[in-house]
Amino acid sequence: MLKGELLYEGKAKSVYRSDTPGVLVVVFRDDITAFNGEKKDVLEGKGIYNARASAFFFNYLEKNGIKTHYLGMQDDRTMNVRELAMIPLEVIARNIAAGSIVKKFPFREGQPLSPPVIVTDYKNDALGDPSINDDLIIALGFLTPDELAFVREQTLRINLLLSEFFAELGIDLVDFKIEFGRAGKEIFLGDEISMDSMRLWDKETGESLDKDVYRLGTGDVLSAYARVVERITNEMRGGNA
Ligand code: 5GP
Repeated sequence: MLKGELLYEGKAKSVYRSDTPGVLVVVFRDDITAFNGEKKDVLEGKGIYNARASAFFFNYLEKNGIKTHYLGMQDDRTMNVRELAMIPLEVIARNIAAGSIVKKFPFREGQPLSPPVIVTDYKNDALGDPSINDDLIIALGFLTPDELAFVREQTLRINLLLSEFFAELGIDLVDFKIEFGRAGKEIFLGDEISMDSMRLWDKETGESLDKDVYRLGTGDVLSAYARVVERITNEMRGGNA
C-alpha cells in the first residue's frame, strides 16, 4: 500500500491518501501536545506505542462486533484504515470523575460514575472543543436521532469491552475519547484508541499511565506508555484477548 498525498496533519497523526480507493494511511508521529497545542514536545518512540495500542484495541473491538476503520499495519507506526467522512464530535465515556468534569461540575476527583457518563464535545480547535448536547448535534445535522442512539450504544459497549480488558491488566479505565465517521450510510469507529486519548490509573498504586503524566508534568510519560503496551502484550501472549 503506497503512502500518497498528505491529506491532513493532526497534532500527533498524519493522514495520507493510498493507491487504493477508499483506503487511507495514518502515520502515528512522535509529537505530543497538551492544552490545545500550547505545550508540545517530540518523544522518540511515542508514536509506535500509540500505534501498537490502537491497532490492538481496534482488533479487539472488531472481534467483539464493533465496526472500526482499522484495516492493518504497514509498519510499527503506519496503519491502513478505511476512509471515513469524520463526524466532528469527541465522544467521551467516563467511569471515574477526573479532568474537565471535576473542573466544571461538583464531582470529587476519583468519584466512581455508575452508570458511566457519556459527554460530547464539538471537535473544533479554534473554539476549544466546546461541550455540545444531543439537540445541538441533531440541529447541526452531525447525526440523525437514530445515529445518535447508535453512537451512544456503541460507546457504552466499547466502554464495557475496554474496561473489562483493562481490569484484567490491573488498570482502571477512568475515561476515554473516541470519534466516529461514515462510509456511505454506515457509521464506523475511527481515529485512535491510545494512551493519548484515555485516562488509565494503576489499580494498586493509583498512578496515571496516560497523557496526564505529560499534561501535569508528573513523570516520564514515555515509560508510562511503554508499561501499558507491555501489559497489553503480556495479556495477548496469555491468550486472553
Ligand atoms: P477531559 O474532558 O477530562 O479533558 O478528557 C476526557 C478524556 O478524553 C481524557 O481521557 C482525554 O485524554 C480525552 N480527550 C479529551 N479531549 C481530547 C482531545 O482533544 N484529544 C485527545 N487525544 N484526547 C482527548
